[in-house]
Amino acid sequence: MKNLRDLTYAELLDIIQELGEKPYRAEQLFGWIYKKLAPQIDSMTDISKALREKLKEGFYIAGSKVLDVKASPDGTQKFLSELEDGSRIESVIIPETGRLTLCVSTQAGCALGCKFCMTGKDGFTRNLTLSELVNQVISANEILGENGRITNIVLMGMGEPLNNYDNVLKFTQVLTDGKGFGFSHNRVTLSTSGVAPGIKRLGAESNVSLAVSLNATTDEVRDSLMPINKKYPLSKLMEALRAYPLKGKRHITIEYVLIKDVNDTIADAKRLAGLLRGIPCKINLIPFNPFPGSKFKRPENAPVMAFGKVLRDAGYMIMIRMSKGAEIEAACGQLRARYDSL
Ligand code: SF4
Repeated sequence: MKNLRDLTYAELLDIIQELGEKPYRAEQLFGWIYKKLAPQIDSMTDISKALREKLKEGFYIAGSKVLDVKASPDGTQKFLSELEDGSRIESVIIPETGRLTLCVSTQAGCALGCKFCMTGKDGFTRNLTLSELVNQVISANEILGENGRITNIVLMGMGEPLNNYDNVLKFTQVLTDGKGFGFSHNRVTLSTSGVAPGIKRLGAESNVSLAVSLNATTDEVRDSLMPINKKYPLSKLMEALRAYPLKGKRHITIEYVLIKDVNDTIADAKRLAGLLRGIPCKINLIPFNPFPGSKFKRPENAPVMAFGKVLRDAGYMIMIRMSKGAEIEAACGQLRARYDSL
């Protein structure tokens, strides 16, 4: 038995044709699954009883179990979901002016072990399936209820999205398909720690927005913070970013967690300006949010401002993320560290 929320439109079309049904039935079904969010096959009232019975022989519809929802005073809500195998994942709803963003986890745990990240410390369990990605969006809208609907998606929670490439690509297709959730491409952002080949593939196969968790300007420092840099060093990462197709006024978001005495000097800021030269980007500077057991410290405000000034003077668009709610637009996995105190 398979969850219908694990199917893309193309897969559904194949199944419908195998069942000897007309192709338009696939569109109807897709709409019931991802637009009208049918809780069960029998809710699909304009699908014939005979087809519903045939579908029920191989398929079902199931959501994830939300175990807990915690809200912070700034309106941010973190929720914990339990998956069918008992794994637990977190997602965060972030209200900002004119939008409601959902930060989605793409893996249970993460294998990459970034030193500033709590998720990385707990190790990796497994990739999330398409239905487990989709169910985070559905649960978020259920939690919001009358208070709104998710308008933006960031794949920035637990896990490295590009290491769960196939399911994440399907998820972006379902999200941006007008027959499904119908999000516009520029309202879906994937954040990576720098999996260079995945960035190239994503650029060729999708047109969602890209964010990169950079956090250092030399291989030496980046190796020490993000072990993935040993596999894909800055030269490879920058090459992939330069090749990423950006239409119109789009840009890449560069996330840079500022850590006291590690990557927050004026020399770092100047190197960062040089490294990003020629890449249409905006830079989010995120003063590190310490968590229990972390050896890193948050820089004072003055060096953060000075760092930002160097970049601004060099012509970059920068944003300094000071407040708790806004900090979600930070590196992936900072999520748990950041919201654990909610
Ligand atoms: S920051 Fe992201 S890629 Fe790095 S360990 Fe945490 S979840 Fe994984």
